[in-house]
Amino acid sequence: GGGSGGVRAARVAAQHGASVALAEEYRLGGTCVIRGCVPKKLMVLASRFAQSFDDARGFGWSPGAAPLFDWAQLKRQVDAEVARLEGVYRTNLLRAGVQVHDERAVLDDAHTVRLARSGERVHARQILIATGAVPEAKPAIPGGELASTSNEVFQWPAQPRRVVVQGAGYIALELACLLNRLGSEVSVVLRADRVLRGFDNEVREHLQAQLAGQGVRFLAGTSMTSIQQRGDSLLATLDRGEAIAADAVMRALGRRPNTAGLGLQAAGVEVDRIGAVKVSIDGRTSVPHIHAVGDVTDRVQLTPAAIREGQAYADRVFGGIDSTRLSHLGEQGIVPSAVFTTPEVGSVGLTEAEALARHADIDIYGTNFRPMKATLAGGDERTLMKLVVQRSTDRVLGCHLVGADAAEMIQLVGVALTLGARKTDLDATLAVHPTAAEELVTMRVPTRRHGAP
Ligand code: NDP
Repeated sequence: GGGSGGVRAARVAAQHGASVALAEEYRLGGTCVIRGCVPKKLMVLASRFAQSFDDARGFGWSPGAAPLFDWAQLKRQVDAEVARLEGVYRTNLLRAGVQVHDERAVLDDAHTVRLARSGERVHARQILIATGAVPEAKPAIPGGELASTSNEVFQWPAQPRRVVVQGAGYIALELACLLNRLGSEVSVVLRADRVLRGFDNEVREHLQAQLAGQGVRFLAGTSMTSIQQRGDSLLATLDRGEAIAADAVMRALGRRPNTAGLGLQAAGVEVDRIGAVKVSIDGRTSVPHIHAVGDVTDRVQLTPAAIREGQAYADRVFGGIDSTRLSHLGEQGIVPSAVFTTPEVGSVGLTEAEALARHADIDIYGTNFRPMKATLAGGDERTLMKLVVQRSTDRVLGCHLVGADAAEMIQLVGVALTLGARKTDLDATLAVHPTAAEELVTMRVPTRRHGAP
């Protein structure tokens, strides 16, 4: 697999002197570069201009003719950038001396990799499985084949006027939000009552309200039961009987490890119930010389985690270096992450509920304010910031943000938490004024205290 984890491992292993071959059946770069993080973020950036044109009026600008958006032009630009990055990946692999096979590979046995198109068999002393994950298609529903997954959204030749999205996780919300901002009418169908299961409850509530305020329609507590073709449009029917006409339906119900037909059984590699490769903390599978990294292991489905795992694998197995700390793994895992909606979500460490499940003495520091830009631009955008602190140790256990630049902020909060930041460390940090981030170092009084003080 030539995605984030596989490419990093291959390149570093080759630099350590190993003889390395990499097989990729689609395009180098994997989910992140080809049909995930990169094209998504570029489209998010495109989607934010719409509001900027309006906001500018509050700052003395009189925009001329109404700006027009051209989906096909954006797609050409994004495709070109993705192709450029794909080329960079290939060049870097070749420069490092990696042999790249542009075809699918399967395991014939624990040491033999068969290249599916050419039939060539390659003997390998070490094998790394880095085949990533694919969109989950279950539950299957009548007409389900009419729905897109996130893979296809990046291929849509034209912008659908009306879109129904099923699911309310990272992918569903990021795409729903950007399509809404680009002018599509978007309905989100979710089985729960709130978006973003697993995130802090205040974040979930705040984001959902903000997106609803921008015109995203949420249909909560319901499931899609069928999709029908009606002329040029689609009709999505919900279990409560309602039917929604749309030009496109996208389902984002999670991602499943991409292990089908890989020959793992022939090689003796154990997988779990959902097909994820079972690995030890350092990526070993049930076969000692076969390792796995990234989404195929169903640990943290995030690019930086896959890269970290790929680097650690190559360093340990080929470089004799065992120093890479896999800080995203295990009980104390500190995993900063962001959801690129507008406003963004940034999150690291424990949610309030998770902290309370582990400790009795939790203080919550929170603020909810109108960002400075909105004072002149108008609009009802609000920023939410929240710190979860253990009172007895003063340790900051979690930080949760919803607002402009939350992704950029949470990266740096992640540094502080990795260093074991205490609330008094934040208090001792001088603010940068006027910023939104300064709130993180100026919140003095808890908004809520759990447990006897
Ligand atoms: P998520 O796990 O984030 O969300 C899955 C969504 O599908 C949830 O809303 C879930 O609902 C819903 N769902 C699952 N099964 C069903 C069902 N049977 N019927 C109805 N709804 C269902 O998955 P995504 O596909 O959004 O993303 C996969 C992963 O990719 C993420 O978890 C993340 O790790 C990674 N990712 C990260 C990004 C980033 O860092 N910015 C961006 C995109 C992806 P419920 O809440 O009820 O369980």
